Amino acid sequence: MKVDLHCHSTASDGVLAPAEVVARAHERGVEVLALTDHDTLEGLDEARQAADALGMRLINGVELSCTWGGATIHVLGYAFASEAPALRQAIADLHQGRWLRAEEIDRRLAAKGMPGALEGARAVQQGLGDSGNAPARPHFAEFLVRAGHVRDHAEAFRKWLGSGKLGDVKQHWPSLEEALATLRSAGAWISLAHPWQYDFTRSKRRRLVADFIAAGGHALEVVNGLQPAEQVGGLAILAREFGMLASVGSDFHAPGAWSELGMYRPLPEDLPPLWERFDHARATTA
Ligand code: MN
Ligand code: MN
Ligand code: MN
Repeated sequence: MKVDLHCHSTASDGVLAPAEVVARAHERGVEVLALTDHDTLEGLDEARQAADALGMRLINGVELSCTWGGATIHVLGYAFASEAPALRQAIADLHQGRWLRAEEIDRRLAAKGMPGALEGARAVQQGLGDSGNAPARPHFAEFLVRAGHVRDHAEAFRKWLGSGKLGDVKQHWPSLEEALATLRSAGAWISLAHPWQYDFTRSKRRRLVADFIAAGGHALEVVNGLQPAEQVGGLAILAREFGMLASVGSDFHAPGAWSELGMYRPLPEDLPPLWERFDHARATTA
C-alpha cells in the first residue's frame, strides 16, 4: 500500500491547489493520502471532493506549529473530526497570528525602504491559488526578487527573512502540550514531524520525544522524504526504544523540487505503521 502522510497545497505554502495535489498523488500511485497544510484546514474540503471523485482514500491532516524548549516544533494531526470546536478555535487563533506576523514583516521591510511587501507577497500568493491565509516568508521572498531588492530567494532569506533577520518575526505559537491537547480533543492521531530537522543534540531530541509522548503523541515521522538513510535509522531506533508508531511522508511542496508525492525512503519493516490505525477511531479525551 503506497501512502503519503505529509504534503502541502496552496492552502499553506505549497504551489499546487488541493485538488491538484490529490490528482498528482493519484497519478503517482498513492493510495492513502493525508494533506497536511500548515496551521489550516482550508484545503481539506477541496481535497476530499477530488479524492472521492478518483476513488482515493484521503485522511484529514494538519501540520501544527508549536513551541518546545525554545524551538518551533511541527506536529502532524491525522484522521480528526475537522469540526471539533477546540481545533477550529485553535486554527482561527493561528490564522490571526499569521496575519499579524505578515503585517509586521510588511512594516519592517517598509522601514528599510522596501514598501508594498504585504501587497506584493499577497499577489505572489494569489498567483498560485486563492487562499484567505496570510502570505508566508517564501511569498515575501518572491516579492523581494520581483521588486529587484534581491537576486533570488536564497539572498532574500540570507539578508531579510531568515532566522534572526528582520523578517523573522516571532509568532506566539501554542506550547507542545497545548497543540497536542487540541488535536487529542478532536480525536486525532498525532505524529512528531521530521524529528531530525530540529537543530538539537541527541539528548535534547530524546527529551522532546519523551515530552511528546507524555503530552499524548502516538507516532514519530521516521521517514520524511529523501532524508539521509542514517537519519531514518536513527529515528527508527528512537521509535523502537519508545514503543511508538511510525509515519512516513514526502513533505511535498512543489513539483520539480527535492521532494515528490509518494517519494520517500523505505520505512524499516519492523515498525508499526500509524496509518493502519486510522480505521480505528481513537477515543477522544478532554
Ligand atoms: Mn512548509
Ligand atoms: Mn514541517
Ligand atoms: Mn511540512
